[in-house]
Amino acid sequence: MKYSLTEEQINGFLNEISNPALRNLFRMMLQNQLEERSESPRRITLNKAVEDVKHLLEINKAMKIALNDLKTENERMVHRYRKITRALGACECLGENVICPICHGKGIPGSMMIDEEAFNSYVYPLIQRITQTVDHTANETPVTNSPYNGATGSTPN
Ligand SMILES: [Zn+2]
Repeated sequence: MKYSLTEEQINGFLNEISNPALRNLFRMMLQNQLEERSESPRRITLNKAVEDVKHLLEINKAMKIALNDLKTENERMVHRYRKITRALGACECLGENVICPICHGKGIPGSMMIDEEAFNSYVYPLIQRITQTVDHTANETPVTNSPYNGATGSTPN
């Protein structure tokens, strides 16, 4: 496949790739495209074929590095996701998969044992924050003017 991109467009594209190994891989592949474009078509010599193979081997090496990077990144994200579902006391499908072999779609947050450590890392800070916000809002409300004061504990809008 050929791309008709300018060098500037290619650099712009490459700058958007955050993974360095992946960026390197794309740079190598696109660089090859630019080199091929500047040569006369159909003029293949043995030297050129050898150079092409060398370049493909380099691309292959960069591809393996990029793939490894992505695998590591993916494993980290899966680990974090699992920890969050345990913090929520939910199945890994969050109860959204009716054919889930573990929960059959019933594993919504709060339906399973909560991992205390995970809860303290991911959920508790949020609860604290909400509690602080509610306290703050309650302090701002003129208590004497509230018809709900003491009756329901809620504040009018
Ligand atoms: Zn499930």
